[in-house]
Amino acid sequence: MIPLFLDLRTGKTARGDDMSVFWWTEGNGSCDCNRAIAFGESHGAGKHTCLGTKRYVAIDVEETAKDRNEEALTKEQVLTAMNAEYGV
Ligand SMILES: [Zn+2]
Repeated sequence: MIPLFLDLRTGKTARGDDMSVFWWTEGNGSCDCNRAIAFGESHGAGKHTCLGTKRYVAIDVEETAKDRNEEALTKEQVLTAMNAEYGV
């Protein structure tokens, strides 16, 4: 599944890597640390503090062969899950 993110700080959008629904909703892709990579910003080596869930919200998702959407969630349900911690 390839997500499209909106940076709430700059208004820019960027596509994320093709990862599983679980990775983006509950795994490493569920917070700004890994979503920042889609915008060419890295968390920085050696930092262990989570960036939290403030900046990069999902606004669209594209299903792919690597989807692994085992629970057969709808696009709306995936987006809701991806943004659950973002207060949007
Ligand atoms: Zn994090």
